Amino acid sequence: MPLTTLQVALPRPLPAPFDYLPDDGREADAGWIGCRVRVPFGRGHAVGVVVGVGPSGAADAVLKPVLERLDAQPLVDAELWSTLGFASRYYHAPFGEVWATALPGPLRDGEPVLDHRAFGWRLTPAGRAGLETLRTGRPKALAEAWAATGDAPWPEARLDLEHPGWRDAARRLAERGAAERVPMPAAVRAIGAGVTLNDAQAAAVATITGARGFAPFLLDGVTGSGKTEVYLEAIRHALAQGKQALLLVPEIGLTAQTIARLQRGLPVEVHAMHSGLADGARARAWAAMRSGEGRVLVGTRSAVFCPLPEAGLILVDEEHDASYKQQDGIRYHARDLALWRGQACGVPVVLGSATPALETQRQALSRRLTRLVLPARARAGARAPSVRVLDVRKRKLEAGLAPELLDAIEKTLERGEQALVFRNRRGYAPVLLCHDCGWSAPCKRCDAPLTVHGVGRRLICHHCGYRAPKPNACPDCGSLALQPQGQGTERVEEALAARFPNARIVRVDRDTTAVKDGLAKRLAELGDGPGIFVGTQMLAKGHDLPLLTLSAVVSMDEGLFSADFRAGERLGQLLVQVAGRAGRSERPGEVILQTHHPEHPWLALLLSGGYAALSAALLAEREAASLPPFAHWALLRAEANDATDAEAFLSAARGHLLGAAGDGQRVPGLDWAGPVPAPMPRRAGRARFQLLLRSGERRGLQAALGAAAPGWYALPEARRVRWSIDVDPIDLY
Ligand code: ADP
Ligand code: ZN
Ligand code: ZN
Repeated sequence: MPLTTLQVALPRPLPAPFDYLPDDGREADAGWIGCRVRVPFGRGHAVGVVVGVGPSGAADAVLKPVLERLDAQPLVDAELWSTLGFASRYYHAPFGEVWATALPGPLRDGEPVLDHRAFGWRLTPAGRAGLETLRTGRPKALAEAWAATGDAPWPEARLDLEHPGWRDAARRLAERGAAERVPMPAAVRAIGAGVTLNDAQAAAVATITGARGFAPFLLDGVTGSGKTEVYLEAIRHALAQGKQALLLVPEIGLTAQTIARLQRGLPVEVHAMHSGLADGARARAWAAMRSGEGRVLVGTRSAVFCPLPEAGLILVDEEHDASYKQQDGIRYHARDLALWRGQACGVPVVLGSATPALETQRQALSRRLTRLVLPARARAGARAPSVRVLDVRKRKLEAGLAPELLDAIEKTLERGEQALVFRNRRGYAPVLLCHDCGWSAPCKRCDAPLTVHGVGRRLICHHCGYRAPKPNACPDCGSLALQPQGQGTERVEEALAARFPNARIVRVDRDTTAVKDGLAKRLAELGDGPGIFVGTQMLAKGHDLPLLTLSAVVSMDEGLFSADFRAGERLGQLLVQVAGRAGRSERPGEVILQTHHPEHPWLALLLSGGYAALSAALLAEREAASLPPFAHWALLRAEANDATDAEAFLSAARGHLLGAAGDGQRVPGLDWAGPVPAPMPRRAGRARFQLLLRSGERRGLQAALGAAAPGWYALPEARRVRWSIDVDPIDLY
């Protein structure tokens, strides 16, 4: 008789689960499903999750028993289990890998679910009555301290501070029945005085809180329109209904500030899950939400996988932000999964942005999402900034800065205000060029130039991290005329410092914010004095600097002429977000956009009708060209030491797809491009190829991938490459 076996999904790039036997010698039963197990694997062991029980596919003799059952009950509830299953099917990723991606590190490694509660100690009634009978010593000192504060338990954290070495004494008291360890009661939190919502905010809140069951919304509100206040009010409503709320935020290094702001406005503890937290802290937040004791969670991308047994509301702030898309491992999009989870939980989902993604715009246009509009800045006296396009053709530029821009900065400083100068390139200059022969310094391992850093002294590859000192002479012609070409933030900073020697200048890019809370520290550096921020993308998002009245974009011309079909959307979002930093309080704001192409139609649209006009035009172009979101894409990537291996795998994968899904015929509605070399054909010494699959029908694409993907793992060509599937890719790198 065939044995009933456990089917265990492991976090390995393998599509099917593995069969094991229970460790207790009994028949497997359905009670194992959803529980983690430690199993022998290869020469070591691995932690996986039981996804099924059933007759073994393999011969019984080769099956091994699991080493250890790690959970008595399924780790996650039915809703999250099914959501993970959906993610696995949608992204064509092995369930075991999705499972591992979804869990905090300690749980993935097989550790028990932490007791997330804070504990404290107090005397029992018997302990209080018998206080006199204790002999002098540590336990007595502790007991007297506890007795003095009545019935309220002392938190263990406080005992650690005030009575070092208390644990042993406490244990002795507990053994005598004199003391007990109890969970600390939830702290009652005072909430700060809130704002009075304006009419648009109140209407948005009423619509969201009036929804029953799954209801997706787009909260389309200009920068500074008070979206966060809408989130707060909607969360308070969910809490009042006895429900949990999840707020996803982009990875911008300001998560701590957002959490502090929410915490001030909410009567319960706000739990956090983001990359700045230690593994243990994440696991505790996870456990708190799972137990239902946690009521509000704020987190970055992976928080979309947190248990929400009493879900009431899901919010995604800055939903257009690219950091919601995971770019390695399981390439999921947290915003898209948030919508799916909202459906699975039967709760409203709010996507908030001043510059919604075109995918989201399209859904709003076709009324699959309800659009809620906040048309104006909320704070009293705050108005939209004025925008000036500065034609820099034929102008003399200093490190890319036109005289008019420098004048505007000077006036800003004279008024005691702050300016922001945006340049989306870190380092000193993007290229080191030989002025005599045209040689430029390449990375040895990538098809990309090295970036000049350290005010011209070092060369660094932004793609693989390769570093080299700057050569003294051109390796090709021996000339000494090596010149940094173009501007990075370091060079802009240098030019500003030369022009404004007395001004305070703060550079904000990846190089200056690498320390803990670096972004928040940099942004706080000017305080309420005048000064200049110079920096990248990081400066574009979400902060509120009341003295900042001038935002300038040094150059956007790369964005106007990029080959990427998303360039217009990205540029529009960036310009609107950068502009959104200026004039957020009573002082009027000004925005200066430098360009060599002042007549570009995208700029005209932005200036006349804002992001709404630009995105409507871009959406029409996408539709005409059958580009996403009007077509559905999946990108198969492969890299190998040898280009022919990468290409061979993708050719075989394509052949298998056409065979598996279409009986050797062309799959209806499916179209492909490739295999072709990736836009950067070599990175970190590896050759990179890609195969793009396209379909007008999401379902057709999904069916084809579903039929073909499991077979790709088994292709002999797969052994020599690293490959991945990216469903709904947001870039083609
Ligand atoms: P957004 O998230 O849309 O950029 P915020 O929620 O950060 O906007 O609000 C921008 C500023 O306006 C904040 O300083 C906030 O305190 C203030 N604010 C928001 N709503 C109101 C309101 N109804 N009345 C007065 N000030 C408000
Ligand atoms: Zn040369
Ligand atoms: Zn490199």
